[in-house]
Amino acid sequence: MTDRTQTARSLPSRKPCLTAVLRMAGLRPTRQRVALAELLFGGPHRHVSAEQLHGEAGDARVNVSLATIYNTLHQFHEAGLLREVAVDASRSYFDTDTSDHHHFYVEDEQRMIDIPAASVEFMKLPQAPKGMEVSHVDVVIRVRKAQA
Ligand SMILES: [Zn+2]
Repeated sequence: MTDRTQTARSLPSRKPCLTAVLRMAGLRPTRQRVALAELLFGGPHRHVSAEQLHGEAGDARVNVSLATIYNTLHQFHEAGLLREVAVDASRSYFDTDTSDHHHFYVEDEQRMIDIPAASVEFMKLPQAPKGMEVSHVDVVIRVRKAQA
């Protein structure tokens, strides 16, 4: 398992590249979308909630409402740029790594840690309902600090 925060470093601006990424995903590269894309994709892969991104946008003087953040995250998700990992009915994280993998959810820290896909094996899965196919299987394993 790699701890991605370890590889964080300052990267040169990827603005031109992000504009192209947005275009290729079928999204018009508005100033707000590019600014949010830069916050999301400007560093190593990570998991972010809408509230977290809203805070970061404020710190970076990107003036957007929480509603706009939600809309943009969902647009990026629908365009395949982000993966949504729902922890419960009221909490979702957006993962900049869209490849197949699973997650630990650290309950007391509200943080996700990646689990490589190969670390989880399924002995038996039910058949998909008639006329449907499994698109992917998401495993969220909830963990907390071990009681001493
Ligand atoms: Zn992940």
